[in-house]
Amino acid sequence: MTSYEAVIGLETHIQLNTTTKIFCSCKADSWFDPPNTNICPVCTGLPGVLPVLNRAVVEKGVLLAAAMHSEIRPVSFFDRKNYFYPDLPKGYQISQYDMSLGKGGYMDLPMPQSGGVRHITITKLHLEEDAGKTKNEHGRRMIDFNRCGVPLVEMVTGPDLRTADEAAQYLIRLRQLLRWLGISEADMEKGHLRCDANVSIRPVGATYLNTKTEIKNVNSIDAVREAILKEIDRQTREVDAGNRIEAWTLEWDEDRGVLKKMRSKETEADYRYFREPDLLPLRLDDAWKGQILSGLPELPLERRARFMSEFGLPEYDADILTAERRLSEYFEAAVKAYGGDPKRVSNWMMNDILRMVNDRGISVTELKLTPVYLAEIIKLVDSGTVNTSTGKALVQKVDETGKAPAEIVQAEGLAKVSDDSAIRAVCQEVMAESPKEVAAFKGGKETLMGWFVGQVMKKMRGKADPALARSIMEELLKQ
Ligand code: ZN
Ligand code: MN
Repeated sequence: MTSYEAVIGLETHIQLNTTTKIFCSCKADSWFDPPNTNICPVCTGLPGVLPVLNRAVVEKGVLLAAAMHSEIRPVSFFDRKNYFYPDLPKGYQISQYDMSLGKGGYMDLPMPQSGGVRHITITKLHLEEDAGKTKNEHGRRMIDFNRCGVPLVEMVTGPDLRTADEAAQYLIRLRQLLRWLGISEADMEKGHLRCDANVSIRPVGATYLNTKTEIKNVNSIDAVREAILKEIDRQTREVDAGNRIEAWTLEWDEDRGVLKKMRSKETEADYRYFREPDLLPLRLDDAWKGQILSGLPELPLERRARFMSEFGLPEYDADILTAERRLSEYFEAAVKAYGGDPKRVSNWMMNDILRMVNDRGISVTELKLTPVYLAEIIKLVDSGTVNTSTGKALVQKVDETGKAPAEIVQAEGLAKVSDDSAIRAVCQEVMAESPKEVAAFKGGKETLMGWFVGQVMKKMRGKADPALARSIMEELLKQ
């Protein structure tokens, strides 16, 4: 039997997190608002009104285009995409077509399994307005116009993804990038990041493209992965049975985990695109563009690569520490304050700091334990002033009180006791209190050593140098 490979392209719609809509001053985010409360004559398309372009939409769109290595057009145009649907009161969507804000682009996608990188091209990157929402409720069809005019970037990849996992990875990296840039909440469940997947198959090694189907209505990354797997499987069975693949639009049924045929696809010509006569061309002069791009941070994948090359971190650490921008900044500040091996800071971050923020569901920026305090705690452990378990306890105490680590060590007398005679005295005390255990040890039960050291540590509230406590205990018991 022929073996096939999948050819997958993703079309995403990204909701920009501006305060107001793209062409009017209505509130953009209506997630918590009742239907039809954030609307006006502009976004509901009443006659005689004119759209005015929101500058913040352009600025966020330019940041995304730059981050996707897209060529930014100094002059772009808005167009009308004409179609009839009840949730589109104007009868057309204002979008961009042949002269869009971004031209081309790519993302070099790291593949965790193979360790390689996949070059994913971008074929479309443009600004547009959202349409309303149609829902079926109480046996009636209801329309909510709140979403009309909400700013979107539509971004489409080339047919460059080969597996359902790669498609999922692309979405994970895109979501990371959008949050990193602060231009979208990128919450798929809330529709801030929507994804349609184009899927076809071909014999392994072929370079031509076969007829594709389009999967719509997938609203989580897991659902995208699952829907694509099912569709690859269906197409493989059809082709093996000698049937043709038809250009269907399929809808993902989340509850039942199945794909349903929605309709045969319309072609682009059906939309009768033409220039939007109510808007001027979008001119992005060098000054404005420069001002926007001065706010472009180092990108997550670049920072990830730098953490590996500059700090010598393993890929695993670099991945986790750059998952979120603020986390990566916290780590870098701690490395700088520490001045030693960055891997040591990484270990403390991954074991102690991440557990603390994950348990409490907060961000690192909300911690009272600043990066400088973390560095100080590690240095106290390095210098032998406190032992590791006291260091870990300090992480909690500094965060609870906001006090400097050295101050807590001083006030609570937490400094490690490396004084031979002090530890020796406690060892003798333990032996005097436990004649049975001493007898058992002397009778050959040497596994009790751990218990003896534990008793010493307990009496000294964890402050004894454990290696020293063990050697003294051993010496006394073997006398
Ligand atoms: Zn409005
Ligand atoms: Mn669109």
